[in-house]
Amino acid sequence: MTGAGVSTLCGIPDFRGPQGLYRNPDAERIFDIDWFDRDPSVYYRGCRELVYGLGAFEPGPVHLALKRMEDAGRLDGIITQNIDMLHQKAGSSNVYEVHGSPVLHHCRRCGKARTFAEIMEMVGANGGAGRLGDPYVPRCECGGAFKPDITFFGEQLPEVAFANAQSLAMRADVMIVLGTSLTVFPAAGLPRLTLQRGGKVFIVNAQPTPLDDWATARYPDLAAFAAAIPS
Ligand SMILES: [Zn+2]
Repeated sequence: MTGAGVSTLCGIPDFRGPQGLYRNPDAERIFDIDWFDRDPSVYYRGCRELVYGLGAFEPGPVHLALKRMEDAGRLDGIITQNIDMLHQKAGSSNVYEVHGSPVLHHCRRCGKARTFAEIMEMVGANGGAGRLGDPYVPRCECGGAFKPDITFFGEQLPEVAFANAQSLAMRADVMIVLGTSLTVFPAAGLPRLTLQRGGKVFIVNAQPTPLDDWATARYPDLAAFAAAIPS
């Protein structure tokens, strides 16, 4: 299970970190579904660089190490709280994005889907203007705004991804928690399912987590852990 620490190793700012999105005065509204429906430009202005610049980042040491574990037949799947799509970019096949993903966007009015690449072009992440009306908001032919499948405040977690994550957590012999402080529920509850079913939990995170006392082992340094996986 991976969290923000895995992304910050690749240079992606932690949404909650000192350089992150939550320093933006509009932060609470940016990922709020009611605000999105009222004025989608709040999200698109706030996230233009952050989300639509994600295509420029490459998988980091943890993404690559997990892909290696999968190739060696030692990893059944990845549960991630991240929305940067880097596990897929690294080639991992079973990735459950429990906070959603911008890989698809859907029209709020008619439900039509567009890919991340299509929206990126419409948003003009490199400084260009989008089409149709508000230059920041990519709109469908029907006039509705496209919303990323990232889970916003006020929305349910993606049902299928979360159910798959729960099932994976329950049948895991070992869950490795990487780069998350396990403070955002319900995702933070998943390692408990592994423990309840008799599995082991290893924690690799710089900061303490509420499950440290139940972990078989914990390590503070993500990069060092990823470097040690091949051996
Ligand atoms: Zn539409």
